[in-house]
Formats: sequence, structure tokens, C-alpha cells
Amino acid sequence: MTPNIARVALPVPLDKQFDYLIKPDQFPAVGGRVQVPFGRQQLVGIVMAITQHSDFPVAQLKPLGKVLDTAPLWSPALFKLLGWASSYYQYPLGDTLANAMPALLRKGREASPAALKMWQLTETGHDQPLAALKRAPRQAQALNALRAGSLSHEALLADDISAATLKTLQGKGWISELEQQPVGVDWGKNYALGEEKPRLNDEQALAIASVNANPDFACYLLEGVTGSGKTEVYLNLLEPVLASGRQALILVPEIGLTPQTINRFRRRFNVPLVTIHSGLNDSERLAAWLAGRDNQAGIIIGTRSALFTPLANLGIIIVDEEHDGSYKQQDSLRYHARDLAVMRAREENVPIILGSATPALETLHNATSGKYHYLRLTRRAGVAQNARHGVLDVKGLYLEAGLSAPLIARMRQHLAEGNQVMLFLNRRGYSPAVICHECGWLAECKRCDAYYTFHQQSGELRCHHCATQRPMPRQCGNCGSTQLHAVGVGTEQLEQQLATLFPDYKTVRIDRDSTRRKGSLENYLEAIRRGEYQILIGTQMLAKGHHFPDVTLVSLIDVDSALFSNDFRASERLAQLFIQVAGRAGRASKPGEVLLQTHHPEHSLLQALLYKGYDHFATDALRERKQAWLPPYTYLALIRAEANDSAQVEQFLQQIRGIFSASPVFDQDTLVMGPNPAPLARRAGRYRWQLLLQAPSRKVLHQLLSIAKPAIALLPLAKKIRWSIDVEPQDL
Ligand code: ADP
Ligand code: ZN
Ligand code: ZN
Repeated sequence: MTPNIARVALPVPLDKQFDYLIKPDQFPAVGGRVQVPFGRQQLVGIVMAITQHSDFPVAQLKPLGKVLDTAPLWSPALFKLLGWASSYYQYPLGDTLANAMPALLRKGREASPAALKMWQLTETGHDQPLAALKRAPRQAQALNALRAGSLSHEALLADDISAATLKTLQGKGWISELEQQPVGVDWGKNYALGEEKPRLNDEQALAIASVNANPDFACYLLEGVTGSGKTEVYLNLLEPVLASGRQALILVPEIGLTPQTINRFRRRFNVPLVTIHSGLNDSERLAAWLAGRDNQAGIIIGTRSALFTPLANLGIIIVDEEHDGSYKQQDSLRYHARDLAVMRAREENVPIILGSATPALETLHNATSGKYHYLRLTRRAGVAQNARHGVLDVKGLYLEAGLSAPLIARMRQHLAEGNQVMLFLNRRGYSPAVICHECGWLAECKRCDAYYTFHQQSGELRCHHCATQRPMPRQCGNCGSTQLHAVGVGTEQLEQQLATLFPDYKTVRIDRDSTRRKGSLENYLEAIRRGEYQILIGTQMLAKGHHFPDVTLVSLIDVDSALFSNDFRASERLAQLFIQVAGRAGRASKPGEVLLQTHHPEHSLLQALLYKGYDHFATDALRERKQAWLPPYTYLALIRAEANDSAQVEQFLQQIRGIFSASPVFDQDTLVMGPNPAPLARRAGRYRWQLLLQAPSRKVLHQLLSIAKPAIALLPLAKKIRWSIDVEPQDL
């Protein structure tokens, strides 16, 4: 008899699959999970094929353990996409599939929704006179609520009836528990809530008509400044989709999933909505995943990883703020969720809309070259005016905690008029370095090539790269002097200085340090909106997706560090930040003002941005990218490697360079640069080097990497060195 063999992808860092014997009473499905013995462990893997042949002697194959799914976990389209992602991003298939599953499924939990816990009245419960429960009002309330029929445990809790109350009632024999499978809702019937909708302007109407004209795959760039009505376009696009009972997948940046965003969808549609983000616990995540798969949810809003949610009946994908850096995953499977979302839309044959005020240069290139449809909203909906902006040349000026006198004067004026002021500084802590005034010694992290940041609040020196921290020393590590000075300005210092400069106004600081506690960011944002603070200081975090109508002055106080960065994307990010904040400053009755502090007011990039706008900036920047052979005109991959021995790391990358250069695909259109020390050449005691590969197309890049990877894995040093491949890296 020919054996039946399951070929299984396992979550192990190996680019291969493993064969197991299927027992006669087992019925695994391709795309479904199985449990298998692997060494001494039991692993959960995905069946990739069922076959009669193995490259191994059949007698040595182990039998499958438990078959966990009798049907595939993903639709064929999504399963194919995951396979593609594994191959394109050079990440093992088993790990990729494991990454795309909720943790509980990775652990073998059943892939079906938990039954709902419900409560119902017993006969004695029915007969209880409520008046007799005067002293136990909650019990009376629960009994009363249940008289209309059974209710879920969650619904009762939401009504302020505690689990203890329910337990007591159960003990008295007045109520009893029952389990119910969740039933599907046919939301298409009654999807609209009848919220009053604004009358669309011509551009919005045109955008909506363009997308609706074609229900098949097409990719649209919807470009429009903040407040131009993009979200209103999304809401309109959802209507026909939901009305026909299909689902909408909406991706938002990590910080964009605010209650305001979610509420706009809730207010408009009477459709079950789930959110998927890093704040969910394992069972919430599984529930959301299942709700998508089983068509229990009509709207799925989530951050990056929500892209992998299986959807029974997908009708449209929207990627909001498509330029946002959080769409790129920076470890394990280093995918770009926006790019994969476009692939998914193609596989599932649905339209996809990429929305932004400041599209990524890659996206803009695709739109202007005709690959994507280009839709634009050029007016701010309502009557808000565009903000005034200008540069402050700070050359030779005295800076008080990074603030020039002209800026301080403008701040005074805006504050005196009862408005709020917002300052951006992308540097946490009190100061980015501590220096000895006597001998010039700098407090340096012992494990990294970096200076310690001084955090005054905690009285500590902290390394922002390896998270080492130690108390602020009293004396210089070199000469013993006590003359230690903080150099440079971070957000903590700025906050302190502002309290002195503006004692009559309240200052709030929004950065990773001040918002570490869960919920604290939301609390601060609320307080800002209520006007409890007049001066807002923040890192990038504050710029994203928040709208404060009373902020009329915005300043980026250190533009130069972005203008002169090593990363070729730094200027693009600066431009995006500038447009984002400019778009949010002021409102109809209060024109906004945006001021940039720089030592280089003549810089061509600043000039284009300030006087011609983002599109001109982007055109210039794209021209430069083309001349410099940079994305989107070429495709990059970064090979990173690190170990305790610097020479070994360099040698390893040198060998990889050799492998690439010898490749049959390598020609005059491809380039390999390095090995070079990484921007942070040493981190946590390990030396870091990198090698940059450049190719004229995705296809060639992919071929180069796919041919080289097995050869790299065979290098003796590959086992001693930590290394990774980042395809289309966002940070160089
Ligand atoms: P964006 O998503 O581009 O920031 P929104 O869709 O949030 O823009 O629109 C900004 C504000 O203008 C919202 O309060 C929205 O309700 C309102 N708005 C959008 N479109 C219109 C319109 N056509 N007429 C009047 N108000 C509109
Ligand atoms: Zn010293
Ligand atoms: Zn360090």
C-alpha cells in the first residue's frame, strides 16, 4: 500500500518542510494545522501538501500527532499571499505562517469561536417578587433584565451587574447558565444608521464614483491634506460594500487607532466592527480573527498585522496614512503591510485605497506613472484656512533650551490670544550627552557606540540603544571633576525650561517616556483637547493623527538633524512631518502658523517644501532619487550582521558579497555596497556591520537573494553570527 505523507511547514528557522506519515484514521487538510513530534518537542505546523513520496526512507518517517484542523485556516488567496511573503521577504515559510496566526492557534487552540456564556431565569427566578429585593438592587436589576429573555454574561456586566451578583443569584437557584453558539448577523440588510452625512464636494464625489465604477482589483492613491475629507470618502466607499454583505478591511498606523477614528465608523454603520491591535490579549485576538473569518464582523480596523486576518467575504481594503513607517515590520518577517495589502487586494480581486496627505515617494511614483489611479482632494473640507509658514534662521542666535528669541516671542503672542502652541523635538530625555567641563570626557555606554542620554526625572543615564541605565555619576569617569554638564536639548529639558519661561501656562510632554503607562497617552490627548494644557511638547508621536483645533502655532525646533542625516529617507520624513502638522494647525476662525528653526534656511528642500508644497518637494526628491539610483527607481536589500568579534562579522559579509558578485543574475545593473559598519556600529556589546544590495527590479532583487540565501546559510560563519535580510528596508 502506498503511504500517505503530510509535508508540514514548522515554525523553525529552516527553509524546508518536514514529512510525516498520515495514519489511516487521520484527515489533515492542506492549509490546516497538525501537531507533530520534532526532536523532543511537539510543534504545531501547517500541512503544505499531501503526497505519496518522500525524499526520506518512509520507514524512518514519524507519524503525525493530532490533526487540529480538517479545513484550511486561510482562503486560497490569503494562503498564496503568505507563501509569497515568505519567499519575497526571505523568511522561512513555517515561521511566516506562524506569524500570521493568533498566538492561541499557534498553541493548538481550536479554531472555532468560544460559545457565548448566557444567563436565563429559572422558574423560581421568574416567580420572585422584585419588591422583596429592595436591599439588593443589583439582584433586582438582573432579574428584571432577564425577564425579557436570556442575556449574555458580557451584556449584563456592561449593565453594571457584577459577576458576584450573578453568582449569588445562581446560588439561590434563580438563574442558570446556558451556552450559545454565536449566530451570524446579516448586516447587509440594515447597515445604515441614518447619521446625517455632509454633502460631498466635487472632488470627493469624483473619487467615490471612480472607485465604485469598478468592483474589481484596482489600486487608488487618495491624496488630500488633513481635513480634506478622506475619511468621509472611505465612509462613502464602505456603503455599497456593506450593503452587499461584504467586509471592509481598514489598516491604520500604530498610533492612529483612536476612539475618534473608530467612532466615526460606528456612528455611520450598524455593522459589527472589530479592532485588531497590539493592545489585545490572546483570546481577544483570536476572537477578532474568528469574527473576520466567519463573517461575524463587517468592518475590521487594525494596525499592520490585521492584514493577515482571513475574511470570508472581503469587499474593499483601505490603508490610511499609507506613508506611515509603522506599516513596515522591523523584525522577524520584515514585511511592508501597505505593499502586501496591495498584493492581497489583487489576489482577492477587490479595490484598495491608499490614503495620505503626504504619500510615500514610492506610492507617488506608482500614481504618476499610471500604475495606480491618482485621486486628489485639494481643498480642506469645511472652511479651514491653510496655515502660514516660515523659517526662522537661528544662525548666531542664542538658543534657550533650543528655542530662539523670535520663536519665544511668537509663542507669547499665540498664548496671549488664548491658543495652544505645539513644539516638536525628536529627542527624548533631558540631554543627549553628558560632558566633563574640565577634561572633555563624555559619558558613553560601555556596550554601544553611543553616548548616554541624561534623564533628569529619574536621575539616570540611559542608553537608548541597549536600554542600559545607571545613576548619574557625581564625578567625571576620567579626571574625577564634579563639573559634569548636560549637552544638547531633549524633550525633558525643553519641558523644564518652558515652565520657567512661561510660568503662567501649563506644559505637557508627549513622548515614549511620559506615555509608558497604558492609557496615559489617551488621557493626555483628552486633557489637551479640553484645553488643560497650553504648551504641548512632543516627539513624532504627537504628530500622528491627532487634531487639536486650538493649536495655532506649531514649531519644528530642530530641522537640521533631519536635513543632514545619513538616511536617504530622512528628508522625506521631515517633509511628511511638516505637512502633517501644518495641516492640523489652526481652524476656520483661527489661522495657524508653522515655524521651522534651522541654520540652513536656503536649503533647497526646505525652500521647495515651504513655498511650493509637498508635490513639488516630492518631484524634486524623486528626481534626486533617480539620479542617485535610489528607490523607487531601484530595489534594495540590507544584510545585517552582528557578533562580539568585529573582524568575523566583516569577513562574513565579505563572503556574502562574494556570493552575490558570483551570481549569474549579477550584472552591471546590480550593485553590492559594503560591508560597512552599521549606523550604530556597536550595540549591547555586539559589533554590527551591513551590506547593501541594489537591483533594478523587484524580480532581480528576489532572484539574487533566493539564489544566494542557501549558499549564505552554508557558510561556516553563518552559525556563529546573528544575521538577517531586510528586503526593501525603511531604515538604512
Ligand atoms: P481627512 O480624513 O482627510 O482628515 P475628514 O473626512 O475627517 O478628512 O474630514 C474633515 C472634517 O470635514 C470632518 O469633520 C468631516 O466630517 C468634514 N467633512 C468631510 N467632507 C465634508 C463635506 N463634503 N462637507 C462638509 N464637511 C465635510
Ligand atoms: Zn573630566
Ligand atoms: Zn547601550
